[in-house]
Amino acid sequence: MRPTGRLHLGHYFGALLNWVNFQDRYDSYFSIVDWHALTTKYQASREIPANIWEIAADWISVGVDPEKATIYVQSAIPELAELHLILSMLTPHNWVEREPTLKDMVKMLAANEKEGWEKVSYGLLGYPVLMAADILAFRGSLVPVGKDQESHLEFARDVARRFNSTYGVDYFPEPKPEFTETPLLKGVDGQKMGKSFGNDIKLADTEADTIAKIGQSITDRTRALKSQPGHTDLCEVPWPMYQIFGKEIKDQVKSECESAAIGCVACKARLGKLINEFFAPVRHRREKLMQNPEQLRQIVECGNAKARKVARQTLADVQEIMGMVSWS
Ligand code: SF4
Repeated sequence: MRPTGRLHLGHYFGALLNWVNFQDRYDSYFSIVDWHALTTKYQASREIPANIWEIAADWISVGVDPEKATIYVQSAIPELAELHLILSMLTPHNWVEREPTLKDMVKMLAANEKEGWEKVSYGLLGYPVLMAADILAFRGSLVPVGKDQESHLEFARDVARRFNSTYGVDYFPEPKPEFTETPLLKGVDGQKMGKSFGNDIKLADTEADTIAKIGQSITDRTRALKSQPGHTDLCEVPWPMYQIFGKEIKDQVKSECESAAIGCVACKARLGKLINEFFAPVRHRREKLMQNPEQLRQIVECGNAKARKVARQTLADVQEIMGMVSWS
């Protein structure tokens, strides 16, 4: 995950819950990829360190357990950069140019495609190769990803295959995706929830912030007055959220909405309360962690050391397979 800001509910349901489940089943490595953040945020590089700690706190507070999984920071493992460099030598340039996620980024960088490509740095072009290095350094066989990351994983598989076939070995496993079941969680404006869209509810938000944000969310646009019946099927944000946070009362909500027994303001305030109750233990743990930065640092440094040992061995194996000199 790129350290570009605090995490929101979309991350929680879209990735983190799955990770917590993953760590009980597999030897898991979770990385805060600060070099990946630099590919598009190099001008805001000074913000990255603070975000590293925010993300680490978010992860641990939702249940990613440093006793079970390895939490580390990408830039603490220089072997990843070296592996990235080696893999970049054997990756055809047209593989990166045709990568669909990169094309999406180009669209995001500027109003038109030409300008977007002009903003693509050498590092951003190498984004998928760096991601392949991240996975292959741990000889990862399974990666918990959202559907939108599928092409990156396909890319990592291609790179693994190319390395194995070039050097006549069966060294890198071809990483497979384990797709996250992502419930549809819209931002308060009814669009996809995103850090940069200003429509998200963050894990670290206060209760008051959460209530205020939900209070601004888009409901049934056809309902102008409290006395008019609402339509849950037209309610853009609160009703879908009730499917997650208010499963036990959704029949009641539906009947109150459709009989105009409740107005949207009160209905959203109730939802905000439910979200706050759901995240109260997470927020409590998070607050305690942020009050103890030394503990957080120790957890991450311990993960860094463990991850580095594995990556160092992989790099040594790669150098040996390729017949390169391994300098001490
Ligand atoms: Fe949505 Fe609740 Fe308003 Fe109905 S009453 S439209 S469910 S916010």
